[in-house]
Amino acid sequence: MRRCRSYRYRLSPTVRQQAALVGLLALQCELYNAALEERRGAWRWERRSVSYVEQCRTLTSLRAVRPEVLACGVTVCRGTLRRLDWAFAAFFRRCREGERPGYPRFRPRSRWDSLQWEDRNGWCLDETTSRVRLMGVGAIKVRLHRPIRGTPKAITVRREGRHWWVTIRCVDVPAEPLPATGRQVGIDLGVTVLVATSDGNLIVNDRHTRRGADRLARAQQDLATKQHGSQYRARARERIVAAHRAIRNRRTDTLHKLSRRLVNEYDLIVHEHLTIPNLVRRPKPKPDGVGGYAPNRAAAKTGLNRSIHDAGWGQLLAMITYKAESAGRAVIAVEPHNTSRTCAHCGHVSAGNRRGAVFKCQACGHGTHADTNAAINILRAGRAQQHVAA
Ligand SMILES: [Zn+2]
Repeated sequence: MRRCRSYRYRLSPTVRQQAALVGLLALQCELYNAALEERRGAWRWERRSVSYVEQCRTLTSLRAVRPEVLACGVTVCRGTLRRLDWAFAAFFRRCREGERPGYPRFRPRSRWDSLQWEDRNGWCLDETTSRVRLMGVGAIKVRLHRPIRGTPKAITVRREGRHWWVTIRCVDVPAEPLPATGRQVGIDLGVTVLVATSDGNLIVNDRHTRRGADRLARAQQDLATKQHGSQYRARARERIVAAHRAIRNRRTDTLHKLSRRLVNEYDLIVHEHLTIPNLVRRPKPKPDGVGGYAPNRAAAKTGLNRSIHDAGWGQLLAMITYKAESAGRAVIAVEPHNTSRTCAHCGHVSAGNRRGAVFKCQACGHGTHADTNAAINILRAGRAQQHVAA
């Protein structure tokens, strides 16, 4: 099995290297827009679709007209064409599935922040000197804060505000099995309590968005006072992006630590099967028959949506899954069926058992935190599923 893993490191380019990277970003952005124009034109005038492979072939002819585009190698150009190909693939998928299609757009330079090398040409990583050498840019210092495992296969270089990052994708990453602990856990995911475990732990979601919200709100108010097109406005916008980034980083960090803890402590982790796309979908507008719209509880749903995104359930489960896979732990997803209404003590099912955060069984009087009760039911369902499979 070819286990893949990505490692992200901070880059410290010199002033000259930064200028080279910015120049490369501008050229790749131009290439993306030109390639998009080609696809649009071919379809509009000849009803012909242009493939990724065809576009790669035309790259070589650029050597005569625009040699500077190929100065950093053909691999990074292919990476850009690949991104366009993904954009079209996603567009066609949305068309097929009847979603709002959203045709791929031309990208302004200000919104083009990443470069990708899809194979092993045009770059190399030297771990002994901690440098990433990029063709046409130079050897950039990289902070390898943790060792790379496996074989580096492809990289992405990204600009985030004033910082630069490299993501190194590796294949054949060796497993890191952990010794068995003999413990099993069911987890219930929620909004106020992010994770409740079947052994009674409640991990509270500290709502990173709320905490970072003040900084964000201040930055947004600040932007409104700035004149359009001014340098001050550009800087104010940068501050907003930085506030968003800080929120995201803090959340990712929490989820990494939490998933690591669960994988280290338990041999089996059972969770509810999530259908997040359904949960976060926008409510349908309700026409009121006189040209307007009746309330459809969109605002309430937006609040819930934000909490779901904030809690990052999907992200957490993905982290648990890949860490468990590497550590040789089992993860089971069970259907969420009456897990919050069933008494974990006697099995009595009733909607009246639960009142907010408190669970009080109407049959046997068993009382506990509602999320802990659900987590116990989830663990039980997971064990049953395991026995059926065995
Ligand atoms: Zn009961």
